[in-house]
Amino acid sequence: MRKLVSTGYQLFVLNTKGVVRVRATLLERLEALYPEMVRLRRAFHADPELSFEEVRTPQAIAAYLEDLGVEVKTKVGGRGVVGYIRGGKPGKTVALRADFDALPIQEETGLSFTSQHDGKMHACGHDGHTATLLVLAKAFMQLREDLPGTIVLIHQFAEELAPGGAVAMIKDGCLEGVDAIYGTHLWSPFPLGDVCYHPGAIMAAADRFKIEIQGRGGHGASPHETVDAVVTGASVVSGLQQIVSRNVDPQHSAVVTVASFHAGGAFNVISDTAVLEGTVRTFDESVQQSVIEKMEQVTKGVCEASGATYAFSYYKGYPAVLNDRKETERFVRTAGEIHDPSFVKEMVPVMAGEDFSYYLQQVPGTFFFTGAGNEEKGIVHPHHHPKFDLDERAMVIAAKQLGSVALAFLEGESN
Ligand code: MN
Repeated sequence: MRKLVSTGYQLFVLNTKGVVRVRATLLERLEALYPEMVRLRRAFHADPELSFEEVRTPQAIAAYLEDLGVEVKTKVGGRGVVGYIRGGKPGKTVALRADFDALPIQEETGLSFTSQHDGKMHACGHDGHTATLLVLAKAFMQLREDLPGTIVLIHQFAEELAPGGAVAMIKDGCLEGVDAIYGTHLWSPFPLGDVCYHPGAIMAAADRFKIEIQGRGGHGASPHETVDAVVTGASVVSGLQQIVSRNVDPQHSAVVTVASFHAGGAFNVISDTAVLEGTVRTFDESVQQSVIEKMEQVTKGVCEASGATYAFSYYKGYPAVLNDRKETERFVRTAGEIHDPSFVKEMVPVMAGEDFSYYLQQVPGTFFFTGAGNEEKGIVHPHHHPKFDLDERAMVIAAKQLGSVALAFLEGESN
């Protein structure tokens, strides 16, 4: 078991620029505010709300920010909350984003602050994201006079369910005047202390598909008089498996998963229909397009050969999260200055989706992962699991990273 030398922070670089003093003060304040982060996170955890049903959560966020004296806009894009911290000095505008929705999962953690609502759970850590950004706002407000520019706090609803809250909030103006954006995901598969980045595509485009095959049913003993939808469907599934292995450039990556196959109802009746559903994950738009085309081609070819007809539906989910290279470099530099650099790691991209992608289509920025797993404490369950939990210390690390990179951007250092 490795030893965590730095769940706190170390200032590796001290120069005489004012920003370093502001940053050092910010880091100290965040450390002192850790108990408040924990309190907030546990309150949100006990009271989860599903995507597009959030009412109490945005109210609590707005109330907390208003108490701090932050200028607040509510109902942004429907259910979002946006706060503005206008610094005492002129400068650029930087946005930080945290999502706040929960999942339709029955919690089984047994935590003292477990979900008070059956079938609803903060099983992705968005409670932690929210607490992190709120307390960071508090620390920034204490330093407001020294801030060169404006910090926009984007508290986003409905990340878990397409079409998501990001697009609606952007349409409603949450990125107006924003020059750069940063966000993080607390991540239990990575150990506490790790701060992980990736220039370029860090998360995949997450799409859905449905293929309905129409054959001709009949007696199980008379296959020659039927068009067997089960056999046709099975061939389609096999054909789809060859797209990634035979059609996608090995230098690129993609996933084609057939997750459900429904057909038939009796042991001696040949089914007239089969319905396949699944997901496609890609990082590159041209790969995505070619996978879609190939999928339909395979379906068409197999069905024609079998004498079946088909309906092919493809629903694009969130696009890939594309981190800006320059902003990722800025983040890595800043991260290494405030955190033990050996814990700042380049990661391989993850195939999950995130609607942070939409912000990055508008302004440069970077999305990073903050390790929140801890084997010693039994915090080992993956996201979206009924026993999911996070090491709450990860919130302080996330807040320090977000706060520091925002300050670095405002100061315009390393531009
Ligand atoms: Mn999430």
